Amino acid sequence: MRFFNTYSRQIEEFAPMDQNGRTVRMYTCGPTVYSRAHIGNFRAYVFEDLLQRHLELQGYNVRRVMNLTDVDDKTIRGARQSKVPLNEFTGPFKQAFFDDLKTLRIKPADEFPAATDQTYINRMIAMIQILVERGLGYQAEDKSVYFRISKFPNYGKLAHIDLTQLQSTGRVQHDEYDKEHIGDFALWKAWDEEDGDVGWDSPWGRGRPGWHIECSAMATALLGDQIDIHCGGVDNIFPHHEDEIAQSEGCTGKQFVRYWMHCAHLVVDGQKMAKSLGNFYTIQNAIAKGYTGREIRYALMRVHYRAPLNFTWEGMREARESLGRIDDWLERLQNCAGMSEEGDTGGARVEDIPSTFEDALDDDLNVSAALGFLFESIRETNRAMDKNELSPPTAKAWLNWWNKVDSVLQLNKNEAESIPGEVTALVEERRAARTAKEWKKSDELRDKIAALGWEVRDTKDGQTVKRTGASG
Ligand SMILES: [Zn+2]
Repeated sequence: MRFFNTYSRQIEEFAPMDQNGRTVRMYTCGPTVYSRAHIGNFRAYVFEDLLQRHLELQGYNVRRVMNLTDVDDKTIRGARQSKVPLNEFTGPFKQAFFDDLKTLRIKPADEFPAATDQTYINRMIAMIQILVERGLGYQAEDKSVYFRISKFPNYGKLAHIDLTQLQSTGRVQHDEYDKEHIGDFALWKAWDEEDGDVGWDSPWGRGRPGWHIECSAMATALLGDQIDIHCGGVDNIFPHHEDEIAQSEGCTGKQFVRYWMHCAHLVVDGQKMAKSLGNFYTIQNAIAKGYTGREIRYALMRVHYRAPLNFTWEGMREARESLGRIDDWLERLQNCAGMSEEGDTGGARVEDIPSTFEDALDDDLNVSAALGFLFESIRETNRAMDKNELSPPTAKAWLNWWNKVDSVLQLNKNEAESIPGEVTALVEERRAARTAKEWKKSDELRDKIAALGWEVRDTKDGQTVKRTGASG
């Protein structure tokens, strides 16, 4: 298995620290809970889910932590505007995030630590104290505590940034005037009036943690000083992940992360997603347009994680079509496998199916190649079934293969998407009408079925029904 490591900018062979137990320690930056996460955020979470599930398919135990940032400028501003305490403001957004994860069939992390948990606040303060003792942190005149990047020689290595150019990149905010260097970042922010009743006591006075120290503290608290894989979106590389390295390694003296993996941007209709452009979508927006969680999952997953993904409603319709092909194929395979007779021998076993799918995912999670193999296999086996040349044991082998690869893809049709009883009854009535050659009645029934949002098709194996496309 090999992955592209952002730190080295190279494809590297993957081996976790724990060679025998095959445990992989994985940390993924979670949402800031001040609004609903958008589809761009979820592209990263779907990529991380694919990574975790593939590692699990290959026999690793993944221990995964995802943080929830529930205190920062945006959450504090939101709470103030809503005139409620901070935790009352962030609570519903936390719940919405968990709901969206479920909709997209994303496996929950083992832990979702929240930044405002006193245990982690204590740990953040303890880490900042170590940094200050070592000269890596200092309290400025504004009472906030900053990280002194000039004292950390590796600063800039992840993002490949030259410190002397920091000033001109414009990426660093200019609102903190008391810092020694423009690139120094806040570890602890001194309380000000805007913070209202949000704040914790510390050796440097009342205040709140900086965003970056939250991740360093929660990652090392739950996964240890060193972790195998740290993921996030490319937006997180600088300054967030660069700062996480500086803080964590500044405290422990050990390499913090062995493999950094970052997911590329999502654009909508070729443009950056922005509320002002009217192309800003949440999972709920896509559901309201008639799409299901698995259709959104598929659309967000099908492009290689390091390539930009262009989200379009046309792409969503294609996702629905692709899933329809998988559903039809599974149904045909089940029918074919069902024709199996006692003592039926011959045909392929699941071991005979090439490992092309897993090999593609082993190769830096090449999902496009993995899906390419899936659809090529669908075409080939469908062709064999058209000619009645697929043996029932071979059909069974493909079904078993599907069960295995779907533990990673999570694209099976679920109960909620199965055909409602009302539709099934009409389809049965139509079958009887067609047997009796009552063609007019058959057409009327087709229209009734269509009115319920389902399309009936006549094939040589009988009728099949499919959900019709939503207007996008
Ligand atoms: Zn983070």
